[in-house]
Amino acid sequence: MLELKNLGVKKDGTAILQNLNFIAGESDFHVVMGPNGSGKSTLARTLAGHPEYTDYEGSIEFKNRDLSDLNPDERLIEGLMMGFQYPPRIKGVNIKRFLTKVLEKVDGAEGPETKEEKIKSATGELGFSEDLLSRNINDGLSGGERKRLELLQARLIEPEVLILDEPDSGVDVDSLELISDQINHLHDQGTTIILITHYGSLLEEIDLEDARVHLFKDGNIVTSGKADLAGEVDEKGFNQIYEECGCN
Ligand code: ADP
Ligand code: MG
Repeated sequence: MLELKNLGVKKDGTAILQNLNFIAGESDFHVVMGPNGSGKSTLARTLAGHPEYTDYEGSIEFKNRDLSDLNPDERLIEGLMMGFQYPPRIKGVNIKRFLTKVLEKVDGAEGPETKEEKIKSATGELGFSEDLLSRNINDGLSGGERKRLELLQARLIEPEVLILDEPDSGVDVDSLELISDQINHLHDQGTTIILITHYGSLLEEIDLEDARVHLFKDGNIVTSGKADLAGEVDEKGFNQIYEECGCN
């Protein structure tokens, strides 16, 4: 479904991602972990088609189609969505109008009442009151609320592949539960999840039975394993694991 071949990204002459090979199939669950600065967000932005990361080496294929000529909104309509590590505030863009437009793009013909119902129900599921809908995107929203709004969008869009960049950073315990519930729900519905995270607390809430955990170092995956690898990271830290696997 999503295949990266020898992906390389440079910034200011320095390689941030290099020779990265990765495949995600239908309904897969991938967890990407790695120290600060190892390139995780760069990977997410490159996949999403962020304009600062369009100049890459190697290839990104989604559903057997090269993605290089698709901009971020075209990628979203194709079924590839990213949730930001730091969701930006967008002045003057009303949340309800925005969500309605997004649904028009991805769901097409269904009537306005159905869209309104879907939006209201997802708003409640993510722990927001309906007042949220009259506000502007991320304007005055806390870090945790911004992350929940990303998951609300994912819930409505139901993408085929969802890349989440640290949906747990800056999030309190209650929000964490709402977020993990949505991740589990989307995965149960068949969405392929690529979850970038630092810490185990989110992973404890997530059904990782079939997950693959990948550890990043200097812009590449240096080792992969099952869910217990995430537990090992919590216990030992990255450096010790990299020493033990000879990944340094
Ligand atoms: P992570 O998400 O794993 O913490 P990032 O992908 O954000 O790491 O960053 C990896 C490295 O690439 C960092 O050293 C960062 O400073 C650098 N980097 C990322 N984006 C840019 C950019 N647009 N220009 C210059 N350097 C960048
Ligand atoms: Mg990051």
